[in-house]
Amino acid sequence: MLMHVIHMGHDVFKANDKIAEKNRKTLDKHGVFSVNVMGAIGSGKTTLIEEAVRHLKDKYKPAVIAGDVIAEMDASRFRKLGVPTIPVNTGKECHLDAKLVEKALDEIDLDNTDLLIIENVGNLICPVDFKLGEHLRVVVVSVTEGDDIILKHPMIFKTSELAIINKVDIAHAVDVDAEKMREDILSLNPDIPVILTSKHDWESLETWISFIELGLRRAQEAQRK
Ligand code: MG
Ligand code: ZN
Repeated sequence: MLMHVIHMGHDVFKANDKIAEKNRKTLDKHGVFSVNVMGAIGSGKTTLIEEAVRHLKDKYKPAVIAGDVIAEMDASRFRKLGVPTIPVNTGKECHLDAKLVEKALDEIDLDNTDLLIIENVGNLICPVDFKLGEHLRVVVVSVTEGDDIILKHPMIFKTSELAIINKVDIAHAVDVDAEKMREDILSLNPDIPVILTSKHDWESLETWISFIELGLRRAQEAQRK
């Protein structure tokens, strides 16, 4: 997982940043608001994205990029919702990079899209260094990962713009204090919004979904100006 940190120098990150900037321009030109959803395997990224897509697809035109070592499994879940979905297999790589997203963007009808949700590969380390051109960086962490998971991975919480603590309905069962997790996140990044979610609690999902919708609306307003 840490291989690229050892093998890659600054040039690789710089080259990636350049392509990420280009992706951002492409997205902006087409008025597409994009969200990069990061988090470990099993944190619940796919379910949170599904819920967002399900509730936004009648009002907006979402598309999904499903990045994974084997992307097809999650991709088929998104396709079932009837939205354009591009699976991106990363093979041995444990993160998406801007180049992979650039290629995926070629396959999306951007004129018919206003929201792009990108599910990153399950990993709390590498995605930090690889910007994709996204407008919103989201990190998802589940209470099942234990309440020391956050302080062990400070960078992803410092560089994200929204943090989600998921599966809070089972916090008690796994002996984890979700409030302590929130405090840990805020100790790393005092200004970050933190949402506690459970797929069994619609109100909590609504908070997450309205966060996306707010960003989307702002982006649309900015484009009109
Ligand atoms: Mg997934
Ligand atoms: Zn990686």
